[in-house]
Amino acid sequence: MSKKGQKKHIRCKFCGKPAVERLKQYRLSLCRDCFIQFYERQVERALKKYGVVRSGERVLACVSGGKDSSAMLAVLKELSEKFDFSLEALHIDLGIEKDSYSEKSLKTTEEICRLLEVELNVVDIADYGIRLESFGRKKCSACGTVKRYIMNRFARENGFDCVSTGHTSDDIVAFFFRNWLSGNFDWSIKFLPRTEGFDRIVTKIRPLYFLSEKENALYCVCRGLPFLMDSCPYAPEDEWKEIVYDIERRKPGFRRQFVINLVRYLSRTDSRDVEFRHCSICGEVTTSDVCAFCRLRETAKRRLKQNRSQANS
Ligand code: SF4
Ligand code: ZN
Repeated sequence: MSKKGQKKHIRCKFCGKPAVERLKQYRLSLCRDCFIQFYERQVERALKKYGVVRSGERVLACVSGGKDSSAMLAVLKELSEKFDFSLEALHIDLGIEKDSYSEKSLKTTEEICRLLEVELNVVDIADYGIRLESFGRKKCSACGTVKRYIMNRFARENGFDCVSTGHTSDDIVAFFFRNWLSGNFDWSIKFLPRTEGFDRIVTKIRPLYFLSEKENALYCVCRGLPFLMDSCPYAPEDEWKEIVYDIERRKPGFRRQFVINLVRYLSRTDSRDVEFRHCSICGEVTTSDVCAFCRLRETAKRRLKQNRSQANS
């Protein structure tokens, strides 16, 4: 027992070295090296159990430079040989000038790709005639549509088999609450660890489905990987995420158990009978005549024209 006034060092459960973190949901304290191994084993198990990535596939990992996508890129690189897939990164330059966010985001992505020796592809949304500034208070939802569209199109046009994103268990549980409470049940089918592609839609994979944001940040720190700490200046307050963190604090392991059971349930009920057509402007898959991306692009063009004529008058 420690003497009064003396700091008690928590030891790693596996090797006895000083622990860097106590993972409450697993009732484990681990040192730096054992945490790295533990984290990679968690991802490896998920890849195997849910058939997330297949032998010979070309994976395109979408990287913003934040903790989740940086951790995803690093762990995929680590496991790429074992699972026999090839890996490249895609960064979408959102042109966010506020707080130099996009500039920092690109710089961090370049740094991590250089460090991990992963080829980086960069697409600028300005090349599609889009500026997020023109969407007023709807910047975030416009951004989501633009990113999904570009990821899919870039992957397909460049021969990738799947697009990998850094969604975490925090994201999945928050999506679940938000959508179920607003009566939208269709979203969940699209959010499995692997969602098969169809028609012009490329397969989506989520290797960090069972990991938390905190574990991803810790993995980056333990491996000395660069990641951007700034949040996007347009990020809205996410009350559902706060609620998820709060439940996790009170019930450690809730989040992980939730996503495990969600996948179990969805795999049994998965039935994709969504009707789709092709956008009359760009030809991509959509459920209406013109896809959400092309509608956004039209709005952006209209607003640009309005601004120009106002400036000239
Ligand atoms: Fe895009 Fe920023 Fe919103 Fe994320 S938070 S969707 S990067 S605008
Ligand atoms: Zn379109």
